[in-house]
Amino acid sequence: MSKKIFPLQADELEKIIEKYPTPFHIYDEKAIRANMKRLFKAFAWAPGFREYYAVKAAPNPRLLQILKSEGAGADCSSLPELILAAKTGITGEKIMLTSNDTPADEFQKAIELGAIINLDDISHIDYLEANAGLPKVISFRYNPGSVIEGNDIIGKPEEAKYGLTREQMFAAYAIMKEKGIKRFGLHTMVISNELHENAFSTTAEMMFKLAVELKEKLGIAMEFINLGGGIGIPYRPEENEVNLEAISANIKKLYEKIMLPAGLNKTEIAFESGRAITGPYGYLVATVLHEKKTYKDYIGLDASMANLMRPGMYGAYHHLVIAGKENEPSTYTYDVTGSLCENCDKFAVDRKLPKIAIGDRVIIFDTGAHGHSMGFNYNGKLRSAELLLKEDGSVELIRRAETIDDYFATLRGFKGSII
Ligand SMILES: *Cc1c(COP(=O)(O)O)cnc(C)c1O
Repeated sequence: MSKKIFPLQADELEKIIEKYPTPFHIYDEKAIRANMKRLFKAFAWAPGFREYYAVKAAPNPRLLQILKSEGAGADCSSLPELILAAKTGITGEKIMLTSNDTPADEFQKAIELGAIINLDDISHIDYLEANAGLPKVISFRYNPGSVIEGNDIIGKPEEAKYGLTREQMFAAYAIMKEKGIKRFGLHTMVISNELHENAFSTTAEMMFKLAVELKEKLGIAMEFINLGGGIGIPYRPEENEVNLEAISANIKKLYEKIMLPAGLNKTEIAFESGRAITGPYGYLVATVLHEKKTYKDYIGLDASMANLMRPGMYGAYHHLVIAGKENEPSTYTYDVTGSLCENCDKFAVDRKLPKIAIGDRVIIFDTGAHGHSMGFNYNGKLRSAELLLKEDGSVELIRRAETIDDYFATLRGFKGSII
C-alpha cells in the first residue's frame, strides 16, 4: 500500500487558487529534496554514484535547480533540453546526451557543453565525428535483444528502436578506442515504470557482465555504467513503493561478485531516473465545471488530457481525490473527463468517489513526471501553469499558464488583431 496524501489542506489550497486559477500542477519541493537524498543515500556504497535526472519528465529550470542542488545531473534528449540544463547551471559531464535518431545540432551543443555523449547506434560514430567532433567521454546504449528472452519483466528489447546489438557494442568500443578515445561508459534502458525489484538486478547483472567482457576483449575499463531510468512509482494506492534500499543492496552484491574480481572497482553506477524522482510529488489541481448524467455520470473538469496525457494515452491510472472530501465514503461512480473532443479524454473511468459538486477541487496525483511535460495544444487547449510549494510553505509560480497570444505566436500569413 502506498499513501496518497496531498500536502495541503482544502483551505490552504483555496488561498492558492485565489491567486493562481485552476488548472495547475503543483510540486512539493520538500518531498522532492527528501526523495533525491534518499536515492543518493541508498547508493552511498557505490563509488561516485550519479543520477542524471531525465529532463523530459519535468523540464522546468526551477525543478532542475532543486535537483542540481541535491547532486543530480541532467539526462537530455533534445537541443532545448541541453540548453535548459545548461541555463540551470548543469554543465560538462553532469549532462548526458541520451537521444536517438539524433540531429547534428544536438551533438554540436553537447560537445560545446562538454557533455557525455551516449550513442544510440554504431552508424552515429561517423555522423558525430563529421558533424560535431568526438567527445572526451563516450558511451553506447546497449539493446540486449532476445539475449534475455523469456524474462517477462524486461519485455521485448528486440522490438525497441533503441540501442546497439551485442556484436555492435564490441565493434563500436573498438572503433572508438582506435580513434583515440580514452574514457568510456556503458548505458542501457530496458525497463519502464518498473516496480519489481529483481528487474533492476537482472539489468545490473547483464551490464556488469558486459563491462567485464569489454574489459577482457578490448582492455577498456568502464568509468561508469548507466542503468537508465524506469524505476516505477505506485500510481495505484494498493501498489507498493519500490524499495530503493533493497534494489541498491542487490546491485551491491552483484557489483562485488562480478565487477570487483575483474578489477573494475572504480566503475561508477548511474541512473537517469525521472519518474521516481519527481513523479509522486506533483499534483494536477482542477475544478469541477459540470456534472452530466446520461448513460453514465460524468464529472467535467477545467483540465483536460492536454494537461495530463497518461490516462488518455496509455489508459494509465492516476489516483484522484476531492479536496476536503478525503474522508467521505466513495459511494458514487463517475467518469472524470476533460473538455477535449476525444472520448479518451478521461482522467478516470468508473471511479468510485464521494458525491461531487460543481466547484469542487479535484486533486490528481503523481503528475510530477511525464505530466505537464507531455502537454499539447490540440483542440486549442492551452497548457497550464506550474507552481512550486516551497519548503517554507509559500508558493512560487515557476511557469505561467499559456495565453491565447502564445497560441497565436507561431502563426503566420494572417492579418488583423487576434482578440
Ligand atoms: C524517459 C527516459 C528516462 C526516464 O524514464 P523514467 O521512467 O522517468 O525514469 C531515462 N532515460 C532515457 C533514455 C529515457 O528515454
